[in-house]
Amino acid sequence: MSFGNAILDAIETKKFGGALSEKGIRTVVEGYTSGEVPDYQMSALLMAIFIRGMDYDETLALTRAMAESGDTYSFPECVDKHSTGGVGDKVSLTALPIAAACGVPVAKLSGRGLGTTGGTIDKLEAIPNFSVDLSRAKFESQVSEVGLAIIEAGDLAPADKAIYALRDATGAVDSLPLIGSSIVSKKAATGAGHLLYDVKCGFGAFMKTLEEARELAGLLVRLSNSLGIRASALITDMDNPLGSAIGNALEVRESVRFLRGEQVPEDLANEARLVAIRLLELKGIPEPEHAVENALSSGAAYEKLREFVRAQGGDADALDDLPVSSETRDILAPRGGYVVRFGALGIGRAALALGAGREKKGDAIDYGAGVELLVKTGNEVEQGQPVARLYGARQVDRAERLALDALEISDEPIEARPAILDSL
Ligand code: URA
Repeated sequence: MSFGNAILDAIETKKFGGALSEKGIRTVVEGYTSGEVPDYQMSALLMAIFIRGMDYDETLALTRAMAESGDTYSFPECVDKHSTGGVGDKVSLTALPIAAACGVPVAKLSGRGLGTTGGTIDKLEAIPNFSVDLSRAKFESQVSEVGLAIIEAGDLAPADKAIYALRDATGAVDSLPLIGSSIVSKKAATGAGHLLYDVKCGFGAFMKTLEEARELAGLLVRLSNSLGIRASALITDMDNPLGSAIGNALEVRESVRFLRGEQVPEDLANEARLVAIRLLELKGIPEPEHAVENALSSGAAYEKLREFVRAQGGDADALDDLPVSSETRDILAPRGGYVVRFGALGIGRAALALGAGREKKGDAIDYGAGVELLVKTGNEVEQGQPVARLYGARQVDRAERLALDALEISDEPIEARPAILDSL
């Protein structure tokens, strides 16, 4: 069948709620990636999918077709984790060195920040001279020698990259089968044999409710299993940022503090430990809790982070005191009471305004910019008490307004909701 016939056929079928064939899906994906199916036809199909949905077999066929649309890697012995995107989410920077220090190799391809959500690649680039661009041979040898390598997802799953950009521009992002196939196609192309999904749930995440998050987590695990990947999932809170640091260098600093055994907020410490434990479980490591505690208390996890940074050209000594912006402003509590939330979406927007991310494509990041939360949910505050510190010189007044709008204070004592909401 020609590309032209395949896309028209697919639009007609999906418009009336019919099921697309595996062959039809593959032909359309191939045609779109090679430029022979135009944007206007692909966006018509994506909107029909958005409205009518796709059954499991169609979603799996789309995942496979996108995964196989470009280069693929194979690391059957390795673990990987994927977060659906959060604010202050430094779980990769903390849990992966622990897993690697426990002898579980990690091969990871990561992305940059997207909207208000941060990206591991941007965070790593806050470390002087760190390179996220390794050759295939260097990536593979580092995985076997150091046990941890992280690079930017380059030519992997190019069909997803093109389709994602089109969905973004046509209001077709928040569709469960499209999100599930997009995420799993990239993970399948990366080729790790064991995967943990961290599905974020709350105001600052794609999935706003626990039901939606459970549905996505179930789909990600099922699609991965169908592609021969051993997978499990956690559902974690994203009403509030994770930990207290939001912004690239600030987040690396907080990760270093945790790995060196210094005090960090409990939500981060618990989540980093649990993700590491679950990664070890996926590999069948006995007594994973004990192994994780040992890697932290012996300093092996921090040493693994330093080794990984050195292997990718970074200055490991700079980790001990990574510079952040010297321009700071404290945000003061407008009234006394108990902190209900410091909303992740608002804090993410404040960090973005300060230059921690890109407000539009191509914007230059200020790696030292961001927000440090000085209080967390449940803390009692007095009027005028500093509750957050802004770092950076860009749009500081706007960032202050966004941070203040994100802060909710109640007269009644509040109990923080747990960082881990569910697991499967
Ligand atoms: N992350 C992805 O990689 N794809 C989506 O569609 C949504 C979030």
